[in-house]
Amino acid sequence: MKLLIASNNKHKIKEIKAILGEKFEEILSIGEAGIDHETVEDGNTFMENAEKKAREIAKISGFASLADDSGICVDHLGGAPGIYSARFAGESGGHADDEANNDLLLKKLEGVKDRAAHYTCAMVIAYPDGRVVSAEGYMYGEILTERHGTGGFGYDPIFKPEGYSVSVGEISDEEKNKISHRSKALAALLAKL
Ligand code: IMP
Repeated sequence: MKLLIASNNKHKIKEIKAILGEKFEEILSIGEAGIDHETVEDGNTFMENAEKKAREIAKISGFASLADDSGICVDHLGGAPGIYSARFAGESGGHADDEANNDLLLKKLEGVKDRAAHYTCAMVIAYPDGRVVSAEGYMYGEILTERHGTGGFGYDPIFKPEGYSVSVGEISDEEKNKISHRSKALAALLAKL
């Protein structure tokens, strides 16, 4: 069976192929499959958004389709930015760059003692017959008071995972893949296939 990935992000595609490669004959990104489709992410949860994306691609393509939605949830901010992580510092809800998002989060936590946070990833495979298999993964830790390192992307330079003395921006991609919300969601999904 063929699996389409509802993403053109090279890092994500590589990680998904490495973990799910044995379960599918072929794994393709939507770009490789010649599909150009943008899902409107209007769900209230990571899972709703991921499921909507996966279902739309499965319907358009006729193949099993995998989609994810992820972000960072900060306890002191009641779980924000959450599903709005990519657009946290964006004007009128548009995507903002990583620098602006990190600046805003550091500012909102200035002088705050409780810096607990976690990344969440919802991962969904939708089949053309309407069946859906889904799983979530988390990476717990805390928000630092300044940036450390240049690795990873997004909020990684200001996020220190539990049990680590450095930020995700200071560890290798291989190390991150062992502990990330994305790899945990994929492993949980694999166990259900
Ligand atoms: P998406 O699910 O790939 O669209 O990610 C949404 C947003 O959440 C990204 O733009 C980042 O701001 C944040 N995010 C998700 N996963 C990570 C991660 O592994 N590291 C850093 N930021 C992340």
